Amino acid sequence: MQKFSSITPQDIKKLAQEKGYTIVAHNYQIKELQEIADYLGDSLQLARLVTKLDSQKILFLGVDFMAEMIKVLNPEKKVIVPVRYSTCPMANSLSVSDVLNAKEKYNAPFVVYVNSRTEVKAVADVVCTSANAVDVVKAIDSDIVLMGPDKNLASFVAEKTGKKVIPIPGENGYCYVHNYVTEEEITQLMKKYPQAEVMAHPETPENIRKLSHFVGSTSQMEKYPANSNAKEFIVVTEVGMIEKLKKIYPDRLFIPVPSMVCYNMKKNNLKNTYLALLEEREEIVVPEEIAKKARKAIEKMLELTENRKNEKEVGINVR
Ligand code: SF4
Repeated sequence: MQKFSSITPQDIKKLAQEKGYTIVAHNYQIKELQEIADYLGDSLQLARLVTKLDSQKILFLGVDFMAEMIKVLNPEKKVIVPVRYSTCPMANSLSVSDVLNAKEKYNAPFVVYVNSRTEVKAVADVVCTSANAVDVVKAIDSDIVLMGPDKNLASFVAEKTGKKVIPIPGENGYCYVHNYVTEEEITQLMKKYPQAEVMAHPETPENIRKLSHFVGSTSQMEKYPANSNAKEFIVVTEVGMIEKLKKIYPDRLFIPVPSMVCYNMKKNNLKNTYLALLEEREEIVVPEEIAKKARKAIEKMLELTENRKNEKEVGINVR
């Protein structure tokens, strides 16, 4: 057996092949893991991509709600992760009772961000991603919409749609990676790279979005440079995204914001990924009654955004 002290990316790829696993990784994983991934993308891109794969065994590298989303959309497939409790504090900030209480209080539809617990998706009316949140809310026949857990995404959507978007759970719903980036960090980078354009994720607060040339999801950030004359971009999202952008646009410069690191995403490494394949664990299990309701909220999103280009994307094959 391979010694753990000397696990290489090649060892993982070889073992995955032997055991029949396809490796699917989120854009925010460490560079070494991005490099061994068969597919790299954002959470919904990957969950939908997996439905098109023949492979019945998936090794997923990301955080728990994303792995569950893959399982929800692919109930017949075996999905394993290296660290079961690699979780997302923002997703965990919104509970089932928060959603039910808000719906009763405001009597309005609840749009839940894909970065949420599976059981929370199961009680919401429709799911949205950061790429389609604006389109989903525009398509809903109501001027008042409840949205959670990310208060910054809710304020971005309110700004773009002119609707009243009430954030649930409110002030406590945010991604710490995006919420705590400061104007000073960004303006210093802008001074250092005066020709650079700033691309920011909608999970950033309004003051950061206002400094930016472009606000969009990671999948939209992948496309933006193709239509821009800029050669340099300050990327205001998790630092892992830089690797993918460099791969797509090798002739451009992508500048990370060094403080923007998601420690939850970095719990996966070469050793625990190898071990996961060796022992074929931890397996993701989602009770079918919850999966069925969560699927319904996801399907509602697809129905509302059916003809939207963004939602027809699949993960980029990085092999
Ligand atoms: S980057 Fe933010 S939203 Fe994504 S997993 Fe980390 S804490 Fe959660």
